[in-house]
Amino acid sequence: MTNKLSDRIKNLPVSATLAMAAKARELKENGIDIIGLSLGEPDFNTPDFIKNAAVKAIEDNYNSYTPVDGYLDLKKSICKKFKRDNGLNYNANQIVVSTGAKQSIANTIQVLINPGDDVLLVAPYWVSYSAIVTLAEGNPIEIRSDISSDFKITASQLDNSITPNTKLVIINSPNNPSGTVYTKDELIKLSMVLEKYPNIYVLSDEIYEHINYGVPHFSFAKIPSMFNRTITVNGLAKAYAMTGWRIGYIGAPDWIAKACTKMQGQITSGTNCIAQRATIAALDAPVGEIKYMVDEFKERRKLIIDLLNNIKGIKVNQPMGAFYIFPDISDFFGKTIKGKTIKNASDFAIFLLEESHVATVTGDAFGCPNNIRISYAASKKQIAEAIKRIQSALED
Ligand code: GLU
Repeated sequence: MTNKLSDRIKNLPVSATLAMAAKARELKENGIDIIGLSLGEPDFNTPDFIKNAAVKAIEDNYNSYTPVDGYLDLKKSICKKFKRDNGLNYNANQIVVSTGAKQSIANTIQVLINPGDDVLLVAPYWVSYSAIVTLAEGNPIEIRSDISSDFKITASQLDNSITPNTKLVIINSPNNPSGTVYTKDELIKLSMVLEKYPNIYVLSDEIYEHINYGVPHFSFAKIPSMFNRTITVNGLAKAYAMTGWRIGYIGAPDWIAKACTKMQGQITSGTNCIAQRATIAALDAPVGEIKYMVDEFKERRKLIIDLLNNIKGIKVNQPMGAFYIFPDISDFFGKTIKGKTIKNASDFAIFLLEESHVATVTGDAFGCPNNIRISYAASKKQIAEAIKRIQSALED
């Protein structure tokens, strides 16, 4: 019956991150001792003060539909957060709360992109950007980078990628999958290119903002000439260990926020009321409340870099944010190990799954075919065991 499905869904690729996580889960359920490092999901519990706010919301009988764009007091908390952490002055009409940052991104792309518009994706980029652009009948256009430039693009690369069809650029710093953090100066250089093209908008995905190991986070919308054409996306999943709560939000020009609300009003309505109440508690708290998780990620980052550096043929950079490492594994292409020929990054990821029982994600899915993504949002014990297994599979 699959031939009855729409072309839209038939042509839609499966999310590589979620597919690998599902595969790992299935193998685990079949009794195989898989270490899952494929999903970007903190292994911490949601902090108690946030859970307590959710319990209170249930007890206080929050059970009705919420405004489509989110409770007003939550939107005010988001405005305060933008001011406090990013120096951005949004008003409540410029905020839309959605079911995860993924929906915030999908809304934005649906309301801005016409068939045939080009959307520039700064590679490596998160897997779903390109699929979401394709669903809107836009053209995802990659601007490539690799480990030699610390996975950063230059201003002239951006300039050279712009065509009369370019409508939107997606920037993601700290970056998933590379962990790269663009400095303020680097972002200003990119904005100077965009100043020449007043009809191009910018989606700045800042979901990993707080998971940062030293390069100060800088919001693209903070650049005065960019404020009126930037959609700042953020959410609670990563820094607050709230992946399943599904809360994302945007700060955007009023007309874009209004359009996202209209879009969401026809698809999902307002997001979950209990999660929205808990989000107020999360965002109103000092950011220091979640620092213990970032400190732990920093230690895990050191551990995984040190361990990977011992494996011949694997090249790593020093990611300054997020909780991923994105090694270049192209030295293995063309080699046959344990009877298996590794032609590309997908073969490499499958080799690791089958031979080491470690789940990772191929770099192809992120626009970087020489790499694989390893999430270190796992315990140090799991990280150490995973890398030991990978090393012995590759070196024995
Ligand atoms: N954003 C996370 C990741 O990249 C969660 C999975 C997904 O939505 O892609 O692993």
